[in-house]
Amino acid sequence: MNADEVKKLYHDYVISCYGRDDFVFVRGRGCYLWDADGNRYLDFFPGWAVSGLGHSPATVVKAISNQAKVLMHLSNNYYHPWQALAARKLSEISFGGKVFFCNSGAEANEGAIKLCRLHGSANGKWRIISMQNSFHGRTLATVTLTGQVKYSAPFAPLPEGFDYVAFNDFAALERVVSAETAGIFIEPIQGEGGINVANADYLKRVRSLCNEKGMLLVFDEVQTGMGKTGRYFAYQHFGVIPDVMTLAKTIGGGFPVGALVAKNDVAGLLVPGTHASTFGGNPLACAAVLATIETIEQENLLARAEHLGMLLRETLEKYKKMFPVIKDVRGIGLMMGLDLNVPGKDLVQACWKRGLLVNCTHDTVIRIMPPMNIKESQLKKGLRILKEGIKEINNKFKASEFARV
Ligand SMILES: *Cc1c(COP(=O)(O)O)cnc(C)c1O
Repeated sequence: MNADEVKKLYHDYVISCYGRDDFVFVRGRGCYLWDADGNRYLDFFPGWAVSGLGHSPATVVKAISNQAKVLMHLSNNYYHPWQALAARKLSEISFGGKVFFCNSGAEANEGAIKLCRLHGSANGKWRIISMQNSFHGRTLATVTLTGQVKYSAPFAPLPEGFDYVAFNDFAALERVVSAETAGIFIEPIQGEGGINVANADYLKRVRSLCNEKGMLLVFDEVQTGMGKTGRYFAYQHFGVIPDVMTLAKTIGGGFPVGALVAKNDVAGLLVPGTHASTFGGNPLACAAVLATIETIEQENLLARAEHLGMLLRETLEKYKKMFPVIKDVRGIGLMMGLDLNVPGKDLVQACWKRGLLVNCTHDTVIRIMPPMNIKESQLKKGLRILKEGIKEINNKFKASEFARV
């Protein structure tokens, strides 16, 4: 099938709820994608933050191929070794809690919302606070939890009990917390909201407040988790441990997996009958999680993400000094945002033309999240292309126009 035939079938048969870029990709390996005409692209945002080990990572491919021949799916009323091993691994690399497996980030957050309500119910606590510009998913409850009305407004009436406050503003949070607040959801680094990094001091104060008032602190690490920041989880940079953490995206190395990790006492609230997921934690998904974590360990990818992250930051800071079109550089490790003084779509297109895929979120923020196992030479090559793109945009917009955004 050529590119036009593929696009025609999409037009005729696929519900068009995505703004699709004009690419038809047919193959991926590591940090590269190939389109239907054989053109190769360097991918600095592989799989929308899913493919943190690159496209079709050999270790995960091997693990799921082997597992598929042994046992793919097993219902959750039986035991199997792979869920046991994957749960132990996630517990060991995080805060020692217990794990519930599901299939996506939204589903993990749904579970966390239910857990907050269960935990608070004895004390009349049921409301949940989330941050403005957060993103937590597209199901009815998680789109309501998401602190951006543009995503939820069309689906009113929305579930009750959600309150929103400005990110990193402790005084604002204190004003909104009530005797009915059961939990607080935070992304330690807001991804879709524009790569906004939490203040360590803020998170520490939120942690104390939650302890004091009997509220659960939930970190949504669906995007930040699994190594790209140079630690397994972003909370490990801040010295603040949540009660519940939600995961998805990179944890299956490209295979769809979601998970919720909860401290032991909180995890105990989910007794038989309270929650379930038919596909959650199936042998294939758990084999993918195990292979992903083993690859990170064996290839020393946390240290690598930290090292490459420093190179990435230094380079972006250098570009910021050179080009006034760049307003800010934010992020940790290999999860970086380049905030522009102009809409980001022109830079995205300038990069595409030169064979580099990047993403723009929140209108002006270029999201750069290369895979943790990218070669240093590939990272540098992508950054040279990015620089060419920035140069083009910088020349296009006069400084006087920057103020308009
Ligand atoms: C992507 C994302 C989600 C939603 O995950 P899905 O797998 O698309 O349901 C939730 N929270 C954050 C922080 C995300 O980045």
